Amino acid sequence: MLTETTALSGKADARFREMLARIKQNGLRLTPQRVAIVRMLAGSSAHPSVEQIHAAVRRNFPTTSLATVYKTVAILKEMGEVMELGFGDTSNRYDANQPFSHPHLICTRCRQITDSHPAALDSLAQELARESGYRILHQRIDFYGICPACQKKEPHATVT
Ligand code: ZN
Ligand code: MN
Repeated sequence: MLTETTALSGKADARFREMLARIKQNGLRLTPQRVAIVRMLAGSSAHPSVEQIHAAVRRNFPTTSLATVYKTVAILKEMGEVMELGFGDTSNRYDANQPFSHPHLICTRCRQITDSHPAALDSLAQELARESGYRILHQRIDFYGICPACQKKEPHATVT
């Protein structure tokens, strides 16, 4: 898990700076806790939950409350800087690296969430728009299954 001392990759660092700039543009205060939350989000491709962000940020800022994390994530979501993946049965997860619709692969065992960009998606959307007359604005596509790591642990696991 990412901590304050972990170096961000070039791409994550660029995203981190971009998000900080957007927060400043919106006239919001940049507290050290808020910066740490943004940094964690920018550096993670794991689609963390608020609880996971909270646990990571608390390593450097032990007094950070869960409410602060919720509030900051809500602000970033409002600004379109994070995308929320809502689930009925488990915690919502967040993507700050690609804050726009894209399909995901979700492991039903370990709840790993991976980005996916199937080439056929654009033509599928175009086909649906043509057939339905809809102007499609966004989509939510989740593929559920068992990730390669979980399959290795449990080779005969069946889809649930
Ligand atoms: Zn898994
Ligand atoms: Mn994603």
